[in-house]
Amino acid sequence: MSQPPPRQPPPAAGEPLDAQPTQERAGVAVGVILDIDGTLVDTNYQHTIAWGRAFSDHGVDVALWRIHRHNGMGGDQLVAAVAGDDVEERLGDAIRESEGRHYGELIDEVRPLPGGRDLLTALRGMGCPVVLASSAKPEEVERYVDLLDAREVVDGWTTGGDVDRTKPHPDLIATAAERLPDTPGVVVIGDTAWDAEAAGRAGFTSIGVLSGGFGAQELRDAGCVEIFTDAADLAEHLESALEAVRAAPAAANG
Ligand SMILES: [Mg+2]
Repeated sequence: MSQPPPRQPPPAAGEPLDAQPTQERAGVAVGVILDIDGTLVDTNYQHTIAWGRAFSDHGVDVALWRIHRHNGMGGDQLVAAVAGDDVEERLGDAIRESEGRHYGELIDEVRPLPGGRDLLTALRGMGCPVVLASSAKPEEVERYVDLLDAREVVDGWTTGGDVDRTKPHPDLIATAAERLPDTPGVVVIGDTAWDAEAAGRAGFTSIGVLSGGFGAQELRDAGCVEIFTDAADLAEHLESALEAVRAAPAAANG
């Protein structure tokens, strides 16, 4: 493993990314595609409850743990994955409409996860450009960006509204990658196996966090090269995590 190049001290939080000269950043920075739900904001259980109520509204009986296992998929994927193609065909749009309503009743409870914003500022400090990539609805993503006070510390974001197929299809990751400036590598950070699977399909390495309720082994099995407890833990160990990413094959699970 090669030695990491010397690093400049990070800029103060809020200082523009351009404050670090591009040349100094080029050797160490990788582009980061960062999931939001369950990674930066604590939403997975509210989404699980909202989906559970939505299925129930339409007479579909689904255990909540099965829904939780499918957090990370957008609504376009989740209904069929949880309840089957027949339910998707007959009731998919109605269930999604119900979920939006139920989630809207819970969204005021949503808080940033520990270290959510710290991770964004630490990545900026390392000179890593960041695009947020979420399967969530555009208005939800806008709300989370504000909740994290992230507008000035990320390079952009994508939502479920930007693609026809959300995770685990690679479309959202590929769209986010197009919004990143050129970097020597790209890493996807997320809390679910679907993030890692989408990353692998797009040809990128991934890092997992446990804050969404997925287990470490299932994240590893899906292709994550490093696992951290949450965004705070990752922010604290960011330099070694990015070293591991640089040392990993381009697509860990190809
Ligand atoms: Mg997530």
